[in-house]
Amino acid sequence: MTRHYSALNLAREGLSGHKGWARAWTSPEPKKRYDVVIVGGGGHGLATAYYLAKTHGITNVAVIEKGWLGGGNTGRNTTVVRSNYFFPESVALYEMSLNLYEELSKELNYNVMLSQRGMLMLCHTPAEMEMSARLVNAMQLNGTDAELLDTEGVRKIMPIYNFSPDSRFPALGGALQPRGGTARHDAVAWGYARAASALGVDIIQQCEVTDFLIEGGACRGVKTTQGEIRADRVGLAVAGHSSQMAEKAGFRLPVTSYALQACVSEPVKPILDIAVHCAGSGSYASQSDKGEIVIGGGLDRVPSYGQRGTLPTLEHVIAGILEMFPAFRQLKLMRQWGGIVDVVPDSSPLIGPSPLPNLFLNCGWGTGGFKAIPAGGTLLAHLLATGQHHDISRPFDLDRFATGRLIDEAAGSGIAH
Ligand code: FAD
Repeated sequence: MTRHYSALNLAREGLSGHKGWARAWTSPEPKKRYDVVIVGGGGHGLATAYYLAKTHGITNVAVIEKGWLGGGNTGRNTTVVRSNYFFPESVALYEMSLNLYEELSKELNYNVMLSQRGMLMLCHTPAEMEMSARLVNAMQLNGTDAELLDTEGVRKIMPIYNFSPDSRFPALGGALQPRGGTARHDAVAWGYARAASALGVDIIQQCEVTDFLIEGGACRGVKTTQGEIRADRVGLAVAGHSSQMAEKAGFRLPVTSYALQACVSEPVKPILDIAVHCAGSGSYASQSDKGEIVIGGGLDRVPSYGQRGTLPTLEHVIAGILEMFPAFRQLKLMRQWGGIVDVVPDSSPLIGPSPLPNLFLNCGWGTGGFKAIPAGGTLLAHLLATGQHHDISRPFDLDRFATGRLIDEAAGSGIAH
């Protein structure tokens, strides 16, 4: 139900402890049986539930989340959205997502604050310029927007950069995707949750899936801290916990979990009107709508399920940012946090059936799955509803590790893992 609040109502709510607000989604007791259970209430799990209900008319669905919605990587990421990948399979996947993002606020009737301010991958050496030219050509051939900039082009869109001749990271140019940018992370989770709940999906928080119900060699549901729940099909969208859950289901995934951290400065007036990534220093930044400089970098390189990063990695990232943006030395760092990301050797996700019949996978997004939430949800919903791959998810099946048809985006587009 959509409600409209006048200024008087807002004041009344503020004074009464917000007792009159309608709940955005219901929190029912879990039923004993569903058509589909989705493990993980991050963006991918919630989007899957929404598209199952909206596109396929399957509403007897539960999303089971061990903590709170978006409390995993979805609410911890640095919110960059883009589709600047090298291989046609990847561009198809991430373009599907970016196209869905462009309509998402309208689709969900929830402002996800998509800001297509542009995404710039900076180059500091002639070799990086050649790689960027190759990437831009590939993107254009694959039908997405991309421009190759020289130093003057970078200066025009990012005058605050350190263009000094002594800079450790001179800006020779870069690959710009004008349609890239940012979106508000928790709004994406909340928007999908509210829309899925309105279509009849049960969203169950504070309920951990502890094991799978396996009968006759197939998955028949899940065991949880609130009892057993049976289901015809189960979707797994638990990011950094994928390898642990796969072990419970009796198979191994080519997934290694690492901590990935980020931080934000105090808010300042608008100063950086683009999302910028610097391969040389391994760091990237954007400015949030609140004015904070949002900073991220590479993985903490020791495999771990710890949801926090180490100081040496943070120092390395900050050192890179300060070299590139000397003016940021005056800023205070306000917060730092970490998430657990699920990294696959070819840096591409795993979407498809698992070795356990009736259990389907959506994982391996590593450092870059926020931008993929609308597509990941669409594709897992298609698998759960039909038992078959969508054309776009087919190349991302687990079987590529048997056939050798890997999609190596670390080599192709120089992504961070
Ligand atoms: P999550 O949001 O992690 O959701 C999985 C959920 O499963 C969690 O809520 C967890 O509690 C739950 N769960 C786990 N085990 C169980 C269980 N046994 N029972 C029930 N529930 C369970 N991506 C981008 O595209 N752009 C970026 O700028 C970007 N920056 C990032 C910066 C950082 C610091 C981090 C950590 C990640 C970043 N990412 C980025 C990656 C992105 O956040 C993730 O790929 C994406 O959010 C994954 O979404 P998800 O729904 O699969 O996983």
